[in-house]
Amino acid sequence: MLLTDELLLDYKRCRRRAFLDTYKDSSQQDSEQDFLLKLLDDSRNYKKAVITTANYKRPSYPWRDWEAGAKATWELMQQGTERIAGAVLLTQIKGGVTLLSTPDLLEIQPGQSNFGDWIYVPTNIKLGKRPKQEYKILSAFCSQILRAIQGVWPTTAWLILRRPNPYAVNLETSVPLMQELVLECIDTLLQRQEPEVFISRQKCSLCHWYSSCYAIAQQEQHISLLPGVTPRRYQDLQALGVTTVESLAASTISTLEPALEPEVALNLVTQAKSTVYKQALLTPKPPDGKTNSECEQGNSPSLIVHTNNLPTAPIELYFDIEAQPDLNLDYLLGVLVVDKLNHTENFHCLLAEHPDDEVLIWKQFLALVWLYPEAPIFHFSEYEAETVKRLGSVYKTPQLHLETLLSRFVDVHKQVMNTVKLPVESYSLKHLARWLGFEWRDAEMNGSHTVCLYDQWLDTGNRSCLDIIQRYNEDDCRATYKLKDWLGKFLISNK
Ligand code: SF4
Repeated sequence: MLLTDELLLDYKRCRRRAFLDTYKDSSQQDSEQDFLLKLLDDSRNYKKAVITTANYKRPSYPWRDWEAGAKATWELMQQGTERIAGAVLLTQIKGGVTLLSTPDLLEIQPGQSNFGDWIYVPTNIKLGKRPKQEYKILSAFCSQILRAIQGVWPTTAWLILRRPNPYAVNLETSVPLMQELVLECIDTLLQRQEPEVFISRQKCSLCHWYSSCYAIAQQEQHISLLPGVTPRRYQDLQALGVTTVESLAASTISTLEPALEPEVALNLVTQAKSTVYKQALLTPKPPDGKTNSECEQGNSPSLIVHTNNLPTAPIELYFDIEAQPDLNLDYLLGVLVVDKLNHTENFHCLLAEHPDDEVLIWKQFLALVWLYPEAPIFHFSEYEAETVKRLGSVYKTPQLHLETLLSRFVDVHKQVMNTVKLPVESYSLKHLARWLGFEWRDAEMNGSHTVCLYDQWLDTGNRSCLDIIQRYNEDDCRATYKLKDWLGKFLISNK
């Protein structure tokens, strides 16, 4: 069995993914998403940019012939080559398992090794800004193989990230974690037992097995499709024998209490009921000072409702932003002006066709929102308020002006999360608005696509890219309006 650094990383993210990558037919995989391809491309370009600044040699070998690659790398190491890019490190361990690592750079250092008066230390180049745990594990994995080859541990392992200085990985703490993970991974793969599906939006959304895993989860009505059920909580629920949405809906708080906080248990049970009964339910909250069993007496969805801060006004603004994170740019500020007295809805698309125009659209935005000084500004998620703070700071908007503006902001997502449970798989705008019957004109579009499309616009000048982004942004504003409108009515009718 061949255990590569990539497979180990997959295993760390999801055991099932490593298993499927090893044993399943790759023709069943989803095709790679544009956004993922863009990330891979960005990562390759970043590595190339870093490596070309160094004077390096590369081992020469036929594509994916790892044995030949390892031999060519070994020869360069033996010659005392100062820097080796694209090295291939291979070693055999017990049980017929071969470990393979391909560090971005190996650099020579003084020391004693199998080669002579020098040793090699590995450097990996990553697009992220933070030294994530998974990067450290990979560095430790690479260091272990390097030790087997040169007979001595590298003095350190470096990470070049998107920040000023390289990061030195602490091998003393990372190596034991890596070794435990490697053993567990080998064990899982050798046993050939397919790990259970567990859908987690963050982890699964970019995975090439998503369609097949999601189909299984849906067919099984898997409890991981219920919002709020994290892998940890799933383990706790399993220990209590609660493994289906139905059994969770029928649970009492006291039966879940040994494993879950009362408020978490109450939220999960209400969420399960909402899903089973296919209806919106108010989110209950345990009254202060009451015991959990007192909460349980009213094990119905009509306990105490969280305070509702959803204003209604004759004119309301709905605001959504499109951004290009790599450029630290917010290039589209979309505002839907809803005038309830005159029954009009006007969408304003403030678009920076060139990155330098961000200041221009910021000024246009300020002018627009001050045309309606009394209007609340609804948005979905924290991003809009955070961005307004950023733009205000970058373009030196007076603080008082900014604070007055932000006091008009209302986060509809937060309001939903605090007040209701809905029969949805996720509390994203897409899921919520679709549950209300809203449809985006471009059904397959999402935020990641807009990033790719804006890049495409900058590269090619193809206007249709901007048209799609504008339509998507307008639909997001309209979806937020639909959601806010529904929520306001629901809360009033359930007072
Ligand atoms: S879709 Fe999710 S559960 Fe399935 S393999 Fe990928 S990460 Fe794992």
